[in-house]
Amino acid sequence: MYYAQRQGLGPWIKNNMKKGLDQLAQAFSLSFWQEKAKVAAFFPFYHAVEAEPQPHISPLYPLISPQQFEAELKLILAHFEPIDLGELLAWVEAGRPARKPFFHLSFDDGLSSCYHVIAPILLRLGVPATFFINGAFIDNKRLMFRHLAALIYSHLAAQKVLAPKDAKLLFSAGHAQEAELLAWADRIGCSVPDFLVQKQPYLKLEELRALQTMGFSIGGHSWDHPLYKKLSLEEQLLQTEKNQQQLALWLRQPIRAFAFPFTDHEVGLDFFDRSNLDLSFGGAGIKEEMQLGRHIQRFPMEEMRIRSGEQKLKSAFAYGSLLRSLGKSKIDRRKTARRLS
Ligand SMILES: [Zn+2]
Repeated sequence: MYYAQRQGLGPWIKNNMKKGLDQLAQAFSLSFWQEKAKVAAFFPFYHAVEAEPQPHISPLYPLISPQQFEAELKLILAHFEPIDLGELLAWVEAGRPARKPFFHLSFDDGLSSCYHVIAPILLRLGVPATFFINGAFIDNKRLMFRHLAALIYSHLAAQKVLAPKDAKLLFSAGHAQEAELLAWADRIGCSVPDFLVQKQPYLKLEELRALQTMGFSIGGHSWDHPLYKKLSLEEQLLQTEKNQQQLALWLRQPIRAFAFPFTDHEVGLDFFDRSNLDLSFGGAGIKEEMQLGRHIQRFPMEEMRIRSGEQKLKSAFAYGSLLRSLGKSKIDRRKTARRLS
C-alpha cells in the first residue's frame, strides 16, 4: 500500500492487474492463449544473443544466451510456421488472407552477434529472418548514443563510482546529447574509439553482405537511431531515406523494409504516406494497426526480467487477448495526425 500512497492509486492498480493477468496467463497452455488472442501471425524480434554480459548492452536489457534463444525458437516453431520477408510482403499485398499460423523473425541494431551467434542458429533450424540496420554504425564507425550511455554506465559501475544521479542522467540523454556523452566518456578514461576497434560491436559491411548471401533479408532502422516522435516529419523522412539509400548502394535489396528505432509511438500517418516503404515494423507487442496495411507490430522478446520463452509468450498472448476483448488491440493513428497538425 505504501507504493500506492506514494505513486497514486492508478499505477498501483495497473501494476497489480498486470501481476494478476500474468498469474492467470501462466495457469493455461500456450495454445489456449494463442487461440484466445487469435494470433495467426506472430512477429517476435530481438537485438542480440550473447553468452557473456556486454558493457554496451547489458545495462539496457537482459541478454539472451544462445541456449535460451534456441529454446525460444523451437517453442515458436512448434506453434507457427516460419516465413521470409518476401512471403510476408506477398501475404500483406494479397490482403492478409487466412492461412496456417506463421511467424516472421527480425533483429534490430545490426549488432555483431547477428552474424557470429544468431545466423548460424537460424541456418541450423531453417528459420528465415530480417536484420534491421543503421547505416551510421556499420563497420564500427560510431557508437549509438544509447550503447554509449550503457558503456559509460558499465565503466562507472566497474570502477565502483556509479552514483544514482549518473544512471539517471545517462539514460535520459537523447540522440542530440551524443557529443556530451562522448565528452563524459573521455573524462572518465573510457575510450570509445578503442572500444569500437577492439570490441567491434556492430556488423562489418562484409558480414552484412554475407548475411544477405545466406538468404536473410536486410532492412533499414534509420540512419543513426533517433526517437522518431521527437523529430519533425521532414527529419523522420530524411533519417529513413538516407539509410535506405545507403543500404541500396551496399546491397540491392528487393524489398524496402524498415523498423522504427525505439518506437513508432506518435508517428503520424503522413510519414507512412510519404516514406514509400514496402513494409514497416513497430515494436508495440500483440497489436494491429487500424489504418496501415503495410505496417506491422512486433513483439519484443527481450524483457526486463529473464523468463522462459513459454512464460513470455503466454503472458504476451494473454495480454493480447485482454486488449482484444476490451477493443484496444488496434492502434488508431488518426488521433496522432490530428494532434500534430
Ligand atoms: Zn534499435
